[in-house]
Amino acid sequence: MSDCIFCKIATGAIPSNKVYEDEDVIVFHDLHPVAPVHVLVVPKTHIESLAHAEVEHQALLGKLMLVGARVADQLGLQKGFRTVINTGAGGGQTVFHLHLHVIGGPGLPSGIL
Ligand code: 5GP
Ligand code: ZN
Repeated sequence: MSDCIFCKIATGAIPSNKVYEDEDVIVFHDLHPVAPVHVLVVPKTHIESLAHAEVEHQALLGKLMLVGARVADQLGLQKGFRTVINTGAGGGQTVFHLHLHVIGGPGLPSGIL
């Protein structure tokens, strides 16, 4: 999608603070981190949200999780981390290109939010 900020980051048209990239996904630091570590795992293909994912995306969805865990380890989150996918406006999604938040570091409150 030509006006999608995460598609532009995925192609390099807009710079990002990238921590990992392969043919399927890119991982970069969130512009407004809510914790000491806050990165976004983003598929290179444009999928509007988790609610728009199809069976053909099953392997890609799994890869987002695995890459998220690997990057969390790389970034020193051996004590643990949180993964979040906001879906739709009602779920708090603000960028409508599917992404997995990986959040961690000292001070992360317990609970699901
Ligand atoms: P959502 O609310 O859709 O789950 O998460 C979108 C996230 O993208 C937010 O945490 C926001 O700070 C981040 N974000 C929005 N625009 C940009 C950007 O241009 N660059 C980066 N690195 N993060 C962004
Ligand atoms: Zn996109």
